[in-house]
Amino acid sequence: KVNPKDIFFILKEQLRYGVLCKLERYRELNEKTLDLMVNEAIRFAREVVDPLNEVGERWGVKFENGQVYCPAEFRKAFRQYGENGWIAAARDPKYGGQGFPHMMRIVVNDMMYGACQAFNMAPSLTHGAAHLIESFGTDALKEQFVPNMYSGKWAGTMCLTEPDCGSNLADITTTAFPEGDHYRIVGNKIFISWGEHDLTENIVHLVLARVDGAPSGVKGISLFVVPKIRVEADGSLGGPNDVVCGAVEEKLGLHASPTAQLHFGGSGKCIGFLCGKAGEGLAHMFQMMNAARINTGVSGMTLAGTAYRNALEYTKTRLQGRDVAGRKKGSVPIIDHPDVRRMLLWMKAMVDGMRSMIYTAAFWSDFAHEMPSGTERDHYRHLVDFFTPIIKAYCSDMGFRVCETAVQCLGGYGYCKDYPLEQYLRDAKIMSLYEGTNGIQSMDLMGRKMTIHDGAPFKAFRSEIDRFCEANRDHEAIGDKVRALAGVAERLWEMAEEFRKKMGSDPLQWASYTYPALIAFGEVAMAWRLLDMAAVAWPSSKKNGKEADFYRAKILQAGWFVDTTLPHTWATIEVCQRPGREILEMPDHAF
Ligand SMILES: Cc1cc2nc3c(=O)[nH]c(=O)nc-3n(C[C@H](O)[C@H](O)[C@H](O)COP(=O)(O)OP(=O)(O)OC[C@H]3O[C@@H](n4cnc5c(N)ncnc54)[C@H](O)[C@@H]3O)c2cc1C
Repeated sequence: KVNPKDIFFILKEQLRYGVLCKLERYRELNEKTLDLMVNEAIRFAREVVDPLNEVGERWGVKFENGQVYCPAEFRKAFRQYGENGWIAAARDPKYGGQGFPHMMRIVVNDMMYGACQAFNMAPSLTHGAAHLIESFGTDALKEQFVPNMYSGKWAGTMCLTEPDCGSNLADITTTAFPEGDHYRIVGNKIFISWGEHDLTENIVHLVLARVDGAPSGVKGISLFVVPKIRVEADGSLGGPNDVVCGAVEEKLGLHASPTAQLHFGGSGKCIGFLCGKAGEGLAHMFQMMNAARINTGVSGMTLAGTAYRNALEYTKTRLQGRDVAGRKKGSVPIIDHPDVRRMLLWMKAMVDGMRSMIYTAAFWSDFAHEMPSGTERDHYRHLVDFFTPIIKAYCSDMGFRVCETAVQCLGGYGYCKDYPLEQYLRDAKIMSLYEGTNGIQSMDLMGRKMTIHDGAPFKAFRSEIDRFCEANRDHEAIGDKVRALAGVAERLWEMAEEFRKKMGSDPLQWASYTYPALIAFGEVAMAWRLLDMAAVAWPSSKKNGKEADFYRAKILQAGWFVDTTLPHTWATIEVCQRPGREILEMPDHAF
């Protein structure tokens, strides 16, 4: 459930995404082709992926004798997804990609995750795993695996987590023993999404492991390609590769997505191939993890968007209560109640702002990848780096809260399975946990992203917001709101500088407040994107009629967000700077 008008407003009017076609790599494309692709993604999501949400929730995951069985509808949809080119929409045509801008992968995922989160993880992981092989593998590995994965013939996974190794990947114990042109892999991985299933004839696991004798810590970690079924030299499938699924998790949500415990080499017969340089596995894996972090934000935002639109529909038809000002007689649709409208407006602004934030970062990522090297390209790289933990953590946590608010709009029915809202709420919770918990994201933002390249990522972010405020502070419609943003942003920059110093001088106090600091950054970024949309919408909002209401709504939501959220942001910044040390002083036994 999306409103294509909102999507195209951001793409065409706010970002003018057609300019991407001026980049050398996209010379063959034009804005019309991009529009066609977005419309086709919306159609595919509605017709093919959306029906899977209910089917998957009902069927769940059937696990018998080490095998996971999925609904037949999932198998069919995965095949279509691959055949229609969605897995590799933004990849190089050399290996079966369609050569669209990187940004389009995010837009496609917005549609597909919003339609069925549990399902879309499978093609999304397949894309990420194949892209790792394409980026770092030998030519032989690329030819053997990548086209089969991009076409959806085989699926892929990312295997990082181990029983004693979640947030801290430095302690990985899975081991790779050199043997001729390959390695023998031995170890156990847990929580592997789509680690076992029957959607495809083979599953290609991208596994982090330590070459036998490698140093401890992250420097000793390498990346391996480990197929479930061995692949012969001629490309045909051989026998099983000793990758055994021991169990699948029973979970709060994502019931149709198998979360597998995988045992590699329990019988000593699992082989894997080194992908990239030995000892650089974690650095290589960061390509997939950074993309997955953005995608986790996409999931949070788009689940929120779907929940919002479901709630909106309901509030227009549910009759309950009298109009508080007596404007209508008898029972009124609940959308007439100001308190319900407050929830709707908050959800609308949150979804639109988060979508704009994510699409903007995705748009920049094309400049970061495809521009000739130089300071401008570096600027975009720094922006994407800085936005990654904000998008991951802010959009996942706020996406969950929007889903909760959508349940609230439906009253008791929201809590029941008659409507999909309770499922969205359960499904959305995982986003704050996987791909690096939100606590870890906040430390990345307030630590590494403040200091690497002499603080360039932070400076790039700051310069974009300062520039926007300077250009719009006297805007005839939103000037006062822009000045309010500029005031809060100024306080945020002071706080950020203080955090930078505190990280070294008082790490415990620093680590006590990185999470609220990230939220403050998220809120400032939201206000900026919403006000930017309002500025873009202003000329069209002055016309008459219903069409102009669409644009007026952008101005109303931005003004409301600034007035009702930024005062909290200001307070959060003060909280982050308070000297009190209760968090640290509370004795463990007194909690
Ligand atoms: C449904 C599901 C699907 C998943 N899919 C995959 C997958 O496909 N591949 C894969 O490899 N993994 C996957 N995971 C694993 C997931 O990425 C981890 O669960 C996550 O990284 C957290 O690790 P953990 O569960 O061990 O928690 P822990 O690391 O034990 O963390 C517990 C808590 O402590 C906090 N914490 C830990 N260390 C620190 C620190 N240094 N500073 C501050 N706070 C800290 C965390 O923020 C968290 O709140 C999946 C998990 C689930 C539940």
